[in-house]
Amino acid sequence: MKENKTLRIHRLLPLSRANGPGTRSVIWMQGCTLGCPGCCNPGMQPLSGGKKVSPAGLFARILRHGNQIEGITLTGGEPLLQMEPLTDFLEIIKRCTNLSVIVFTGYTWEETLAKNNSTAFLALVDILIAGRYDQGKKTTGSFRSSSNQTIHFLDPRYSPKDLKDIPSSEILISEDGNAILTGTDPAIL
Ligand code: SF4
Repeated sequence: MKENKTLRIHRLLPLSRANGPGTRSVIWMQGCTLGCPGCCNPGMQPLSGGKKVSPAGLFARILRHGNQIEGITLTGGEPLLQMEPLTDFLEIIKRCTNLSVIVFTGYTWEETLAKNNSTAFLALVDILIAGRYDQGKKTTGSFRSSSNQTIHFLDPRYSPKDLKDIPSSEILISEDGNAILTGTDPAIL
């Protein structure tokens, strides 16, 4: 593993039921340059915001709830802007645990494949949901935010049936008492 790479994350939610199969930890990455109209996470767009953490440090935070979760979900913000340190992080996840990995990216599948080092990154991902959020094609109940987005099962662990019955939204109360809305369509709450 390469050293001295830093991730910039916006938030880590330890336990969620609305961001993939089973209970999952969700990591919102900080920084996105894609500028989708109607983006529901504008606070995650600035590249300089969020908090810095090393791949090993983020793994340690995931492990605190490691026996309660089926996997992790990476969303944003734009995860692929941090593909190199995320690859390091996911290498640790896959080497040390049986956790599954889901990634939401605003890049299309073709754009993702064209990125440097995407092969190594995608080898560590179980499901990739790809494509910009298009508010004119907003959808619910299909584990994506707009119907133009494409879902890619990158290994045999999951299939389309595993994405049925995932809540489109949930509301959680954080340790500091604040309400957190999350899911592929949190606005419906
Ligand atoms: S890709 Fe996601 S975070 Fe980036 S602008 Fe679009 S909706 Fe917002």
